[in-house]
Amino acid sequence: MQILYNSTRGIRGLTASQAILKGLSEDGGLFVPETMPRLECSLRDLSAMPYQEVAYEVMKLFLTDFTEEELRGCIARAYDEKFDTPEIAPLHKTDDHTWFLELYHGATIAFKDMALSILPHLMTTAAAKNKLKEEIVILTATSGDTGKAALAGFADVPGTRIIVFYPKNGVSAIQERQMVTQKGKNTSVIGITGNFDDAQTGVKKMFNDREMEQKIREAGFCFSSANSINIGRLVPQIAYYVYAYTRLLADGTLKDGDKVNFVVPTGNFGNILAACYAKQIGVPVNRLICASNENKVLFDFFRSGTYDRKRPFILTSSPSMDILISSNLERLIYQICGQDPVKCTAFMEQLKGDGSYTITEGMKEGLSDFYGNFCSEEETQDTISRIWQESGYVIDTHTAVGAGVYKKYLEETNDTTPTVIASTASPFKFARTVAEAVLEEETDLSELSDLELTDLLSELTGLALPKAVEEIRTAPVLHDRVVDAEDMPDTVLDILGIN
Ligand SMILES: *Cc1c(COP(=O)(O)O)cnc(C)c1O
Repeated sequence: MQILYNSTRGIRGLTASQAILKGLSEDGGLFVPETMPRLECSLRDLSAMPYQEVAYEVMKLFLTDFTEEELRGCIARAYDEKFDTPEIAPLHKTDDHTWFLELYHGATIAFKDMALSILPHLMTTAAAKNKLKEEIVILTATSGDTGKAALAGFADVPGTRIIVFYPKNGVSAIQERQMVTQKGKNTSVIGITGNFDDAQTGVKKMFNDREMEQKIREAGFCFSSANSINIGRLVPQIAYYVYAYTRLLADGTLKDGDKVNFVVPTGNFGNILAACYAKQIGVPVNRLICASNENKVLFDFFRSGTYDRKRPFILTSSPSMDILISSNLERLIYQICGQDPVKCTAFMEQLKGDGSYTITEGMKEGLSDFYGNFCSEEETQDTISRIWQESGYVIDTHTAVGAGVYKKYLEETNDTTPTVIASTASPFKFARTVAEAVLEEETDLSELSDLELTDLLSELTGLALPKAVEEIRTAPVLHDRVVDAEDMPDTVLDILGIN
């Protein structure tokens, strides 16, 4: 069955490869599958397959204009020895009803690798399929994690270039080192004198600059985005929820038809939407537990039906979830308003204009699978300590928000359904907060650098340092360009050799 993609705001009938190339629809909407496919293999059969096979069985349902050979090729190039375990996404059990699904075994030790290691291959395959003549130039503004994962994914992928802008004084020392040591002839990393918003605004301006588009097209290039609203990032994420379920089936924890809960530390609502899609294609799911940090817009939305972004932006120890506009929620809104692009557009216009919208009582019923809650900074830190003390297992700050919310859920519901918590980053990536939480007594760590803290954490926990941390100690700095935000377009033209 051919699956076509419609925009949440009206445009209809694109193939999967066209939707991947476009990223965002021209009407401002996000692409969603017109009908939801169902798994063709039984979950029992999938339980005997390795990660790559499960990923193929899931992704082929959505990317129906890719041939078997193309899709298997993309999967083979993505989920290989860049991951430090052949399981790709292993499960770690901490008690009788709780498992952590470790999504951080890829090149940059955060869950963004799960999608960004395959997106470049999906994109270049899509480009060939649609006879795109230009070389794809990925432009990204980053506050840390996405930039490095995108760089690692696109490095040396033929037919692509990637240019990443980051705020020179606005990312952690480890994040900066990870980016400026990036190898690959087609990669460029530029610091800007400004904050993340300046970088983001600069990139958006270039995407909307028709004159610049014309100029680069004449030179044989076109811009594209590796942003999390791309359907090519969402689809690969569905695979690991199916994989997690089938591993619990394989080890006898679950019997056919038994349900699980998924807990997802959430920012842009992409990861949890993938869990929701996993349910719709046939995974037996009880509750989807949406965990927020102190930027708790989603918690308030699930409680009240009102999405309100008019509030202070709080900087937390889980920075990848510091988000007030969860872009991917638009896909859920579209679904629960009866796939009506007119209604969906109206809500999004209200969000843009007034800063808030309220869904109808009928739409609220469509949210019954979801449970939302949040963790304060203190609760996040306490959760890291508690899990370390109870189970000898170390989790990062984002995952801790998930685990802390799960505890609240258990206290409210006494629901002992087997539960899988998405573990979205390696604890080494956020070594300072994690080391503080793991150390029993108050210790002043302010004298130690972030890299020294990763050593300390390794000593405290007995966990080996991940390769990604090891590498950046000795890797030479390959990118040292810093420009003013207003010079971003000229810098891009210069990198592409256009004048
Ligand atoms: C991006 C990110 C998240 C949030 O995921 P969304 O798909 O944006 O909800 C959570 N944790 C980490 C470590 C991340 O990098």
